[in-house]
Formats: sequence, C-alpha cells, structure tokens
Amino acid sequence: RGFVRSTIQPQRRGFAASSILKDPKSGHHHRPPHHHHQHQAQTRDANRFVSHLESGDVVPSLAKQPIHHLSLGDLVRHGRPPLSADALLASARFTLSLLPIRLAHRIQALRNLPYIVVSNPNINKIYNNYQHSLSTLLPWQGRTISNLEDEIRFTEVLAELVQTHTDTIPILARGFLECRKYISAAEVTQFLDQHLRARIGTRLIAEQHIALHFSSAAHFSPATSPTPCPEKPGYIGVIDTALRPASVVDSCGGFVADICELKYGVRPKWIIDGEPDTTFAFVPTHLEYIITELLKNAFRATIENGMNKSPIAVTIAPEPPSQKSLNDTVTIPPPSEDRGEFTRDAIAPLDDNAPGVTIRIRDRGGGIGPDVLPHIWSYSFTTFRENDDDLPGAWNDDALSVISAASSGSSSIAGLGYGLPLSRAYAEYFGGGIAVQSLHGWGTDVYVRLKGVGKIEQIPATTNTDNH
Ligand code: ADP
Ligand code: MG
Repeated sequence: RGFVRSTIQPQRRGFAASSILKDPKSGHHHRPPHHHHQHQAQTRDANRFVSHLESGDVVPSLAKQPIHHLSLGDLVRHGRPPLSADALLASARFTLSLLPIRLAHRIQALRNLPYIVVSNPNINKIYNNYQHSLSTLLPWQGRTISNLEDEIRFTEVLAELVQTHTDTIPILARGFLECRKYISAAEVTQFLDQHLRARIGTRLIAEQHIALHFSSAAHFSPATSPTPCPEKPGYIGVIDTALRPASVVDSCGGFVADICELKYGVRPKWIIDGEPDTTFAFVPTHLEYIITELLKNAFRATIENGMNKSPIAVTIAPEPPSQKSLNDTVTIPPPSEDRGEFTRDAIAPLDDNAPGVTIRIRDRGGGIGPDVLPHIWSYSFTTFRENDDDLPGAWNDDALSVISAASSGSSSIAGLGYGLPLSRAYAEYFGGGIAVQSLHGWGTDVYVRLKGVGKIEQIPATTNTDNH
C-alpha cells in the first residue's frame, strides 16, 4: 500500500511525511514517496527503544494545526438514509481527518500543565490514554480508507478509542484533587473546561461514525457484519431528530429517584408542565447528562430542605423558530463572557432559526446562598458532605468515595462538583446555555436552553467530503 498517493491533499501529505520522518527540518514535501519509505525504515529502527517518543514527536506539529470547527452539517451530511457504501467511507475519511489533530491538542494541553501535575498517576493515566489513542490512529494517516474492510477495522479503532476514554472524568477528578497543592482551583477549572468541552466534540465525532457504521451495515454488508443493527427510525447516527425532552425527564427522574431512595430513603416527585409533547433534533446522551445532573441537584436540595412534599416542576417550552433567542427573556450569559476561548470548540449551528427548547427545573430546595453562588460553575466545587460531622470546606474522604463510586460506574447524588459546569458545557456545545436563578430561602430555577440541530433536509448531500 502506498504511503503517499497523489490523490492525497498537500496538507495531509505533509502530515504523513512528518509523522514518519521525525525530522522537522527535512524537506519532506519535495521528496518522492519511495524516499519516505526508506527513511522511515531507518528512523523506525533507530527509535525502536524509544517508541513512545516516536509518537510524541508528531504532537507539536499536529497540535499546531487548527481544530476544524465542526458544523452540524459535518455530522449528519454522511448519514442521510439510506446510507451508501460511499457515504460511509467518506464519513470514515472525514473522521480520520479530524481526530489526530484533536488528540494532539489535548496532549499538548496536558504537557503544558506543571510537570508535577502531569506526573500524578491519575493525570498521567489520562495522558497515556491520549498518547495511546493517537498511536492507534497514526498508522491510518497517509492512506485512504477505500473499502469496507478498511472501514470495519477503522471503526474498531474508533470503538476502542471511545472505550479508552470512558472513565476520564472520575480519574481526572481524583488526579486534580491529589494535586490541589500544586495548581490553583482557577487553573484546574480553566484546564478542565477546555479539556472536557474538547472531549465532548471528539467523542461525538467518533460516536457519530460508529453509529453510522452500525446503522448502515444492514444495507450492504450483511456478510461482514453478522449482527447489523436495524436502522433506528428518526436517527441520523447519534442524533435523534424527534427527541422528546419530557420522556428524557421521566426516565432520568426515575433513575435519580432510585439514587435518592438508596441514600435518603425518600423518592422526590416531579411534574412536567408546559408543552410536554415538544420534540426537537438533538443528541439524546447529551440531554440525558444535563437532565440527570440538574435533577440530582434539585432532588438533593429538596430533600435536604425537608420539602419532599413539594414536587420538582419541570416546564418544557418549545422555542419558536425565530432569531429571537431566549437571551431576550431570560438572562443566559453569552458563552464567551469571561471564559474567552474555552467555549470556542463548539458546534456551529446549522441554522440559527432551528427550533429549540427551553426546560425550566424549579425546586423548593431553599435556593443557593450568596456564599455558595459565586462558586457553582467551578469544577470540583461542592457543598456535599457524606458525613455531617466532616468539616466543611476541607477536602476529605467524601470526595474520594464519590470518585470511587463514579469510577465503578455507579452514581452518587452529588459530590464531584462537576454537574453544573459540565452540563453547561454540553448545553453550550450546540449553541444553548444554562442559567441559574436562586431565590435564597425558597428554591432554585434552572433554565436550560437548547438549540435544536436544525432541519436535516437543509444539509447538502455532498458525499465527497475529503475537503473540510
Ligand atoms: P455537586 O452536585 O457534585 O455538588 P454541582 O456542580 O452539580 O456539584 O453543584 C455545585 C453546588 O451548587 C452544589 O454542591 C450545591 O451547593 C449548589 N447547587 C446546585 N444546584 C442547586 C439547587 N437546585 N439547589 C441548591 N443548591 C444547588
Ligand atoms: Mg450536582
């Protein structure tokens, strides 16, 4: 198989060469392909014992390339059913064109942390996961995914990548907790905000291709995929074009009530009003994350405030398709305010007029005190204590036990302090936002505004998307 084909764009060829040659000064663009071959063999031999450095070498050059700003069109363009083999291959190539650069940016950001922080075993584990994932993608660079066998193997690589990074959050939480002497809370929040937002996008890109792979298998490769998933009606990859927020509230509410029953012995109730039959196009897993975290906060506050008899009221309000945004009625700060570049890695809406939805979650949990309110958007800030006699404000075993629960896949009612900031990151990813209104002594209203992903019909049906 040829390393560099004439069909590959110059930019890509440049990358393929530099990843192989490890020589930043080499004039690799001008060498004929067989020289790359030769040189590669020599270099590989010389670096046999420092293979981790070998993959490390490509990081700075990859990280210098700008992150492609995803649009929703990018995500759904390949997925319009019925999915052809060509569209699936184009999706795989597009996915491959994005991921190494994104991983390299994360590796670079981790390297920029103080050395003592990156040396922490937990942070280091995340660092190694990124290095590993990048190394599994590099062999795919410089060749074209041109048949379905390639596509299957590439999808396996993506599935492994998604799996490798599943438990990132509790591991990072533990790592930064252990490093709190060496790095300020503000720096941690800044790093995590950028890191976790970037992670949302990277996982979305990989999961979208995996979902397309499985939904398309039924069409044309029953022999190679023995158990093709039936295409889910209304889905394009991971996007549900008719997601019903009220159903998400009910299922997540049941889950959070189970946690409360275990922890407190009570099941808070909730009611849904407004227009519960509203549907819009969105990524269900993102909405589930947001709703679960907000309901946990509302349920916990309600119980701790002794207001179990007052149901949490969830209002679903469809947003009319118009330029007039919720910002005109409820003050949701624009994403960029005081957080500068950290919100830039977001999806460009397909269409500013896409119908969205606003969800208000209202509890009688006593509100948020003025001493707490300024901190609620910081990662790791929590008022949760497992034991009442623990000293407030001091890190104690609570955080670690909550982290342990999270890493073993179970869920605690609170304690990581990631719920609000990460929910906001998810909401903002598609151009929405979250605002908290506290009536201290009474209760809290949380407004989640989500922009729908737009009308799928408007997306150009281009399948030739090696250009991006
Ligand atoms: P965690 O729930 O793990 O503490 P969050 O980011 O979800 O982390 O919330 C941070 C803090 O904000 C909580 O510890 C709590 O003090 C406060 N808070 C959030 N939502 C509410 C609410 N609905 N009512 C009262 N306090 C809240
Ligand atoms: Mg919470």
